[in-house]
Amino acid sequence: MVREGARHLVQSNTGGSSGEPLVFFLGRERVSHDVAAKWRATRWWDVDIGDPEIVLWGSPIELGAQDRVRLLRDRLLRTELLPAFDMSVHSMDRFLARIRARRPRMLFGYPSSLALLAGHARQRGIAMDDLGVRVAFVTSESLYPHQREAIEGCFGCPVANGYGGRDAGFVAHACPAGSLHLTAEDIVVECIGADGQPVQSGERGEIVITHLRSADFPFLRYRTGDVGRLADAPCRCGRGLAVLEAIEGRSTDFVVAADGTVVHGLALIYILRAIPSVGEFRIVQESLDTTLVQVVPLEGFDNTAENLIIEGVRERLGRDVMVSVERCSQLPREASGKFRYVQSRVPVQ
Ligand SMILES: [Zn+2]
Repeated sequence: MVREGARHLVQSNTGGSSGEPLVFFLGRERVSHDVAAKWRATRWWDVDIGDPEIVLWGSPIELGAQDRVRLLRDRLLRTELLPAFDMSVHSMDRFLARIRARRPRMLFGYPSSLALLAGHARQRGIAMDDLGVRVAFVTSESLYPHQREAIEGCFGCPVANGYGGRDAGFVAHACPAGSLHLTAEDIVVECIGADGQPVQSGERGEIVITHLRSADFPFLRYRTGDVGRLADAPCRCGRGLAVLEAIEGRSTDFVVAADGTVVHGLALIYILRAIPSVGEFRIVQESLDTTLVQVVPLEGFDNTAENLIIEGVRERLGRDVMVSVERCSQLPREASGKFRYVQSRVPVQ
């Protein structure tokens, strides 16, 4: 699919958490447009090029590739990268110290990583809301309400959600009024129904993108697997860019009940969130009739708590589902540093 004569392409791939990873290539025009879209969105939040930024991100591979050019670029743009795949207690202490020393105007990262770091700061009793952080940009995962609360409470700044990826590009980002504005000059966003045709504004459909700056390696009506709704009215903030009203779930956020009902992962997340002795957790639906729940237990986690989990999951997925609870000291991130509370190996039809 690479255009003849295309030069300076960078190879990349999707995580492949919901199937085979897609290998694709990015040209310079494409990368620069995605970067420009990001900087525009930061200006909506009163952060500009050259303002110090801490990025909690990155795969070990990307970090390994840090060459002189990259380090120079990061220094010029005053961006500092902290590796999100390593969220051990020791590393998080170091991250908090770096953020305190650096006093960034903006944080950028996965919602799960920033929320985990926020929880760690609270546990340690370290104040992070006196540094002048203006905004925390999060992207690449679903942003759950409890994560937003944790991050805003810790860093004393609003959380701005973004939607996009290495593959799809910088698709949309939140303005201070809370709407996700599309990068409409570069990316055509459609929500399609089961028949492959666009649905009406306001109706739910799979998000499909066409990137207009991706001539070196075309993304034409690229199916993201995510489900969303386009708004039919402009945002009250006055920006003219069309609005993605909601991302109702990433394809990886869903589980399937024994009777075939598709259940949003949040239904399971709420069970775990309601138990105070549960620290981090991950729910892995291995098949229609077996689900594994991994828990980092806090003080007071006992058999009663374990039974609450088992009963809660059965209530939502089916009485006969085998639910096992595994106690872990730490939950590893994916190689990219991403974290998913809910993973399902059962295909959503
Ligand atoms: Zn707006």
